[in-house]
Amino acid sequence: MAIPPVSEDQARAGLRPPSGAAAASAVRLEAVVKRYGEVEAVAGIDLEVADGEFFSMLGPSGSGKTTTLRMIAGFELPTSGRILLKGEDVSNKAPFERDVNTVFQDYALFPHMNVGENVAYGLVIRKVPPAERRERVADALRMVRLEGFDKRRPSQLSGGQRQRVALARALVNRPRVLLLDEPLGALDLKLREEMQIELKAIQHAVGITFIYVTHDQEEALTMSDRIAVFNRGRIEQVGSPAEVYERPVTEFVAGFVGTSNLLRGAVAERVFGTSGTFTVRPEKIRMAEPGSPVAPDEIGVDGRIREVVYLGSDTRYYVALEAGSELVVTQQNLTTSSMEALAAEGRPTRLIWKRVHSLPINA
Ligand code: ADP
Ligand code: MG
Repeated sequence: MAIPPVSEDQARAGLRPPSGAAAASAVRLEAVVKRYGEVEAVAGIDLEVADGEFFSMLGPSGSGKTTTLRMIAGFELPTSGRILLKGEDVSNKAPFERDVNTVFQDYALFPHMNVGENVAYGLVIRKVPPAERRERVADALRMVRLEGFDKRRPSQLSGGQRQRVALARALVNRPRVLLLDEPLGALDLKLREEMQIELKAIQHAVGITFIYVTHDQEEALTMSDRIAVFNRGRIEQVGSPAEVYERPVTEFVAGFVGTSNLLRGAVAERVFGTSGTFTVRPEKIRMAEPGSPVAPDEIGVDGRIREVVYLGSDTRYYVALEAGSELVVTQQNLTTSSMEALAAEGRPTRLIWKRVHSLPINA
């Protein structure tokens, strides 16, 4: 069978050509638009998520992530376009007719029920017999490391534990796809980092497709197999964490996923000898003494250290270039003390990086 061609836009969105029902992806969005009166919350999205994938939707507040998730869940209907689950068009189906479950940021546990009853809720509704119910609830609680907590009330749990109950309550239904909307947003940083590792491990163990919404680039980079970067109701790039971080295709992605460090226009001409827009990641740049030799495969530019921010394990330097513009440089504090780092403020320096680390951007 000839494989139908994929348009450039579709390729960019990570769409593969349709290849028969057997290989149908877990979730597929085709030209999905959602308007609320004048507001275009989602402005035409094509997307394909594979079975078993940990897929993140990353973007700033208001970029259309939640609206997209709610359309996949069936809480909102698209203004136009199609939503397919495992190859089946569910665009106009009710939430309960879709093999998906959602975990929200605010948990939404039932306060008058204990943990076991909260987790069992979906099974009771679906009239799963009591013996099987008990077994599945115990399984789900074990999975989120809350065995023995079934008699507690939500009010007797910490934030992290409540979020795990919410997760167990969704997992117990064994959905094909689990949708998570900023589920760790209410937790403090340390707990959030622990839960990131745990969520990824749980997803790996159960093999369910996760679609994870976040505005936190680090969170997305840590957990995801692939990331879709949202901006103003559109997807600007889909790729693995390394692709999105190391080869951002737009200025927006370069800036949102990491520090942008853009060189463009006349500055780019002076630094690279070519026009265009380029980004260099802060950790790829080293700071050398003024006048230090620059190898043929390297770029060297002179500047002055405008500001130093000591971060414990690293130091961040803001360097004003003689060519114009400014670059951020991060250096690990392998041997540097905070005193030494801070004393560098105001000094001239030469920034050097490998040519291959100057990434061209479609501006
Ligand atoms: P995100 O989750 O990325 O922060 P949302 O999907 O919640 O973004 O919102 C995208 C845009 O759509 C925002 O401008 C928001 O104000 C608007 N929007 C979302 N839901 C509604 C609604 N029910 N009515 C009107 N506008 C909405
Ligand atoms: Mg949101």
